[in-house]
Amino acid sequence: MSPNRRSPAEPIPYEEVNHPDFAQHATQTFTIETVSPGIVLLHGTCPRCHARIQVPFVDKVFRTWSKGRPDGRGSGESALSGRQETIICTCEEQHPNRPDDHVGCGAYWILRFEQVIQ
Ligand SMILES: [Zn+2]
Ligand SMILES: [Zn+2]
Repeated sequence: MSPNRRSPAEPIPYEEVNHPDFAQHATQTFTIETVSPGIVLLHGTCPRCHARIQVPFVDKVFRTWSKGRPDGRGSGESALSGRQETIICTCEEQHPNRPDDHVGCGAYWILRFEQVIQ
């Protein structure tokens, strides 16, 4: 079930950490894809364990929209671009010391959508 198995030199232990470099790295590698109206998918590489991850987001702006536009201005894209979200690594790799009900390597960072959208 794992066609491309990699054997990293040293497994990174699970640790909930934030580092300024994470956000910067993630901004450079992440892309945003709109998969359906109101749902976006962030693709990218975890800045800590370098696994490919994807994180879905419900764009709540769309729901507000259907009830009535705030100021009658802007598009869905511009509303999305003002957002920032805390991203947590959701890789499915093995990381020592990881609690059973957790995924990822523990890395988290703030991702500003406006810096990701091109
Ligand atoms: Zn990982
Ligand atoms: Zn990770």
